[in-house]
Amino acid sequence: MRKKRLLWQLYPSYIVIVLLSILSVTWYASIALREFYLDQVAADLEARSILIEPSVSKLINDHELKKIDSLAKELGAAASMRITVILPDGRVTGDTENDPAQMDNHSDRPEVIDALAGRTGTSIRFSYTLNQQMMYVTIPVESGGSIVGVLRSSLPLTFIYKALNVIYIKIVFGCIVAIILVAVISLIISKRISSPLVELKRGAELFAKGDLKHKLRVFASYEIGALANAMNQMAAELDERISTIELQRNEQNAVLSSMVESVFAVDMAGNLVSMNQAAERLFSINIKDVRGRNIQEAVRNSDLLNFVVRTLESHDPIEDDITLKEDDERFLIVHGTILRNSSRKSIGALVVLNDVTRIRRLENIRRDFVANVSHEIKTPLTSIKAYVETLLDGAMNRPDDATRFLEIIARQADRLNAITEDLLTLARIEQSGKEHEILMRDVKVTDIMQAAGQTCKMKAAEKNIQLIFDCDESLHASLNPQLIEQALVNLVENAIKYSEPKSAVNISANIAGHRLTIAVRDEGGGIAKEHHGRLFERFYRVDKARSRKLGGTGLGLAIVKHISKLHGGDVSVDSAPGKGSAFLINLPIDQPPIFH
Ligand code: ADP
Repeated sequence: MRKKRLLWQLYPSYIVIVLLSILSVTWYASIALREFYLDQVAADLEARSILIEPSVSKLINDHELKKIDSLAKELGAAASMRITVILPDGRVTGDTENDPAQMDNHSDRPEVIDALAGRTGTSIRFSYTLNQQMMYVTIPVESGGSIVGVLRSSLPLTFIYKALNVIYIKIVFGCIVAIILVAVISLIISKRISSPLVELKRGAELFAKGDLKHKLRVFASYEIGALANAMNQMAAELDERISTIELQRNEQNAVLSSMVESVFAVDMAGNLVSMNQAAERLFSINIKDVRGRNIQEAVRNSDLLNFVVRTLESHDPIEDDITLKEDDERFLIVHGTILRNSSRKSIGALVVLNDVTRIRRLENIRRDFVANVSHEIKTPLTSIKAYVETLLDGAMNRPDDATRFLEIIARQADRLNAITEDLLTLARIEQSGKEHEILMRDVKVTDIMQAAGQTCKMKAAEKNIQLIFDCDESLHASLNPQLIEQALVNLVENAIKYSEPKSAVNISANIAGHRLTIAVRDEGGGIAKEHHGRLFERFYRVDKARSRKLGGTGLGLAIVKHISKLHGGDVSVDSAPGKGSAFLINLPIDQPPIFH
């Protein structure tokens, strides 16, 4: 239903009240006026009658009945009224309008009865003689203390009503003027009452739209002024509370978006309510697209969906391990807590996902490493133990066997030594990497290459392998010479190990842009593509037996990789079966090379 404006509720009521008041006053006044006027006319008629009465009394006493009629006609015409003289027996003896002989006996007329009884009689009734409403006033005509007749004065009511109508018209005109004035004044008053309310309504609408800085005018009227004040205060408080809530929300958002953990919240029906940026990244979705939609539509992992259902059903926080299998496997530790409102009623659930993939991978690497180390150490130890026992069992007494076995024991001990040496080297490099404490020095690259060649010279000579150096004498770079020499020794030793005798190993260095590349190339059997990715892992070998036979530890390339990383660079391999191998250490250099 359409609501009426206050103005149109107030105004018609005013008008109705005023109209009713004016009409009832007018009605009452008209009646009172009519009565007053009729009384006045009656009094006037009586007064006139009293004036004439002595003359009539004399004429009756003198039995001049004819003259009475003439007098009635004469005076009646002069006074614009009708005068009738009636004898006590009811006969009419004089009348202004008619011939008395023609008139009825008037003894039954109420006013005549009153006058004959000695009272003034008044009556308003229809005159059959004149055929109209008349007002009659009678007085007794006395002579010598007895009533000798009745003197009746009368006026037609039309005459009286004409006079009254003039007054009525004036009253009606006055009423119309009063009604118009009241209508205008009450419209102004109604507007004055309703317009502040209209302004308050507009202000309240602005508040509802969020314009809480708007200030309502404080009106002079006590109640409306107080209401405007109260509304202004309410808006100011709301504004402050909203600002506080916004600040808290921004802080929460900042905390949530800077969190590494993925966080999302659902309502009791499992519809997504919010999600932080980490969760958006984890599930590759945007909260704007999925807000309000069921979690099933956004996340396609049954374990996680079951976890959300369990969280919503449980009263206490729960925890679980979940694996997301998408492009690559992700391990997550998930915490779920029920969300409650201020009255402790459950309104949804908050789920925090901690991505522990890196930690799990590191744990796996560490586990594999320990297993590998144990295995690598166990093999030579078992061998040493077996030969020592054989020697103790009597082989010691056979000089040829004893020598052979002791040589094997020595070789295995060397292997153990090599493994521990390499492990220690790796540990040292890792430690310096963690503590950022490698010393860089500006050195001639060719000096490092020559030093590495010197270390490998013997092994190369044993296999009759030629070491070829190719490096500009003037090439300088800032690096840790000991570590780079160690990496080069590892690469050159590998090249010698896995090459046929009488071949050549080429060691070269050059700078392109801000990059120094040191390459070790051989003419050996080469390495198939499928091994390239894992070559630099600890203990990875293409051919385990061959590596062991050649005294390899499986750690050489891992050490090279770590040294390169420590310098901010990397190591790569370019090799194919039958085409030899090239290992390239790529190091960034901040300044262009300085030539001397
Ligand atoms: P290892 O001590 O066994 O040589 P590395 O880490 O130095 O261990 O090398 C890992 C593996 O890479 C070796 O076992 C070998 O199979 C392969 N490899 C390394 N260098 C060469 C090379 N120059 N030619 C062919 N294979 C190589």
